[in-house]
Amino acid sequence: MKRILLLGANGQVGFELARMLPPLGDLICATRNGSAGVAPCEHADLADVDSTMDLLERVAPDVIVNAAAWTAVDRAEDEPEAALQLNARLPSLLGAWASNAGAAVLHYSTDYVFNGQGDRPWREDDATAPLGVYGQSKLAGEQALAGSGCRHLILRTAWVYAARGHNFLLTMLRLARQRDELRVVADQTGSPTPAPLIAAATAAILARWLALADEAQRARSGVYHLSSAGSCTWHQFAETIFERAEACELIARRPTVQAIGSNEFPTPAQRPSWSVLDNTRLRETFDVALPDWQLGLDRVLSDLAACTQTTTEN
Ligand code: NDP
Repeated sequence: MKRILLLGANGQVGFELARMLPPLGDLICATRNGSAGVAPCEHADLADVDSTMDLLERVAPDVIVNAAAWTAVDRAEDEPEAALQLNARLPSLLGAWASNAGAAVLHYSTDYVFNGQGDRPWREDDATAPLGVYGQSKLAGEQALAGSGCRHLILRTAWVYAARGHNFLLTMLRLARQRDELRVVADQTGSPTPAPLIAAATAAILARWLALADEAQRARSGVYHLSSAGSCTWHQFAETIFERAEACELIARRPTVQAIGSNEFPTPAQRPSWSVLDNTRLRETFDVALPDWQLGLDRVLSDLAACTQTTTEN
């Protein structure tokens, strides 16, 4: 059995991976508070090199799945060192350790490595040009891992949300219960991607990749795009959330959603206006593809609705 170390097991993607990866090997989770609800869990502050090295030596994994990251995009502008530590130096350290130990690393990155000036879905080898510190730090992490010499997969995903955590879906549902009217940007386009589907796809990809001989794993190492099919603007995403959430009685009524430009909602970090990823490489290499973003939304909403019903019945 392979020993799999999952970092960031309390995050949106990490939480789902902790429930999806056990069939693949002996899963050991690591979180900042030492608890993940499932599987054995180690404590580690991944911003601290000694704590991380100690964790790696203690667990001695065959495979590291890194779902930990600094994801506060706006705060990264004011705290670049903290973002770089998690998003760039941590993958560099993991790559160096794995290269030395003969281990493999699966890591996540983002659509924010692109500048958003596109007119077709971004391919893995398109030129990167991040607009802010978060994207720069994630790109530096990709490059450090790729340059480390270890067997690795880097899955770039986008617009992640889930039934838990900090995300656009939960923010919209909260605001819908508080307000009659909302303003949402309509000039950024991307593919909302649910964490449970990212985790399920990751498990399938890992199972296929790890079944290969080391050299074949090495041949398939690199960057892959993993996002929902189809695309929408944040405004369209909000409208669809409200329509479907009302239908499954998660909200009593839909607020009015006014479409605005990004210039009317200034944020410390600039966001790419075109974030759609081309997932062809992943499909052709691992035979894995995610469904349309609207199907993914229905699934997360029905999980939320079932959860609300159970809570009400109890
Ligand atoms: P989350 O922010 O939900 O989770 C990140 C996890 O990292 C948290 O559990 C957090 O721990 C952990 N973490 C942060 N700092 C430390 C630390 N010093 N020590 C230990 N753990 C730490 O991220 P997502 O699940 O949304 O993202 C997963 C991946 O996908 C990341 O690589 C991200 O860059 C990428 N991605 C995310 C997008 C999004 O929209 N969210 C879009 C595109 C890509 P704690 O729970 O204790 O805070």
